[in-house]
Amino acid sequence: MITTGQKIAIRPSDSSRLQATDLEHVKFGRVFSDHMFVMDHANGTWSDPRIVAFENLSISPASAVLHYGQSIFEGLKAYRRNDGSVAIFRPQANIARMNRSAKRMCMPPIPEDLFMEAMAELVTQDKGWIPDGDDASLYIRPFLIASDEYIGIRPSDTYRFMIFTCPVRGYYAEPVRVQIEQEYSRAFPGGTGDAKCAGNYAAALYPAKLAQDRGVHQLLWTDATEHKYIEESGTMNIFFRIGDTLVTPETGGTILEGVTRDSIIQLARRAKLPLEVRKVSVAEVVEAARAGQLKEAFGAGTAATIAHIAQIAFNDELFELPALEERIVANRLGSELDDIRRGRAVDTFGWMVPVA
Ligand SMILES: *Cc1c(COP(=O)(O)O)cnc(C)c1O
Repeated sequence: MITTGQKIAIRPSDSSRLQATDLEHVKFGRVFSDHMFVMDHANGTWSDPRIVAFENLSISPASAVLHYGQSIFEGLKAYRRNDGSVAIFRPQANIARMNRSAKRMCMPPIPEDLFMEAMAELVTQDKGWIPDGDDASLYIRPFLIASDEYIGIRPSDTYRFMIFTCPVRGYYAEPVRVQIEQEYSRAFPGGTGDAKCAGNYAAALYPAKLAQDRGVHQLLWTDATEHKYIEESGTMNIFFRIGDTLVTPETGGTILEGVTRDSIIQLARRAKLPLEVRKVSVAEVVEAARAGQLKEAFGAGTAATIAHIAQIAFNDELFELPALEERIVANRLGSELDDIRRGRAVDTFGWMVPVA
């Protein structure tokens, strides 16, 4: 573990925007809490960790991040528990993943203890922004950008690390329609598919837009070499239930290692549900769907936790999946996760880190 003895300076904002905010009707990712965390990296060290009012940045048009995309991010959530306390779900997993992304993008790692303390302090400052209700939480967005004022291509010498938070409610209201992608790719062997870097998302927008123009919400990404194996669902990991068995693709460089995915795998193992983590071919999913054996399909990720898939399109075929009440595995694992997050079930895995 990388540690520092640095203290975070806290400079609270003079005026809170909370009273003027309608927390009942927040849209995902559009409302930002009062404060943000900032620290800078130069000459091999991090300095000036601080919590200040959420405000715009002033950066040079020549700032490296704007041109060549040395930029990574994370997404995790703080929950208000039934006893009124606030806890973050598996922050250490996100910290570790952020530092793996940083390595892949030639960026400096964030000291783990400072990262954790920054999130805990920021969430404590803005815990009043967590909306009431069982679908509500505080979404935490850490990100790291290159800040050299230089348009030569090389790893930046200077960086800025920031964290802000958003009050959020349920993400996908409706079960989603997806299409198995046969032309474009999100990730490829040797690429950056397992890093949470900005460029991955920009590259996926155009194929996703083509799909949306055809009436589907998102793509089931397949392997870049043959389009024969299913990898992810939009920006979420993917699970299928074929017959009685829960199946999810194994990661291996082209799939982002989701914390939600890992949590679902651990819960399924604990419940001794039949589970296979392996390559999942398009052919077997399509055959299962044709034979009425595809009982469930869902995306797994922090924003929505579980996004049920209603329909899967493949070439000219369209498969309708069973009604949501019949999604017994996703419903069960989803509520087990919720119960742990809300403090209604014993947190045997030690996933919740109390902060306030
Ligand atoms: C963030 C992300 C996920 C989900 O990861 P979680 O840690 O569960 O939120 C899955 N796939 C992609 C491409 C992602 O960016």
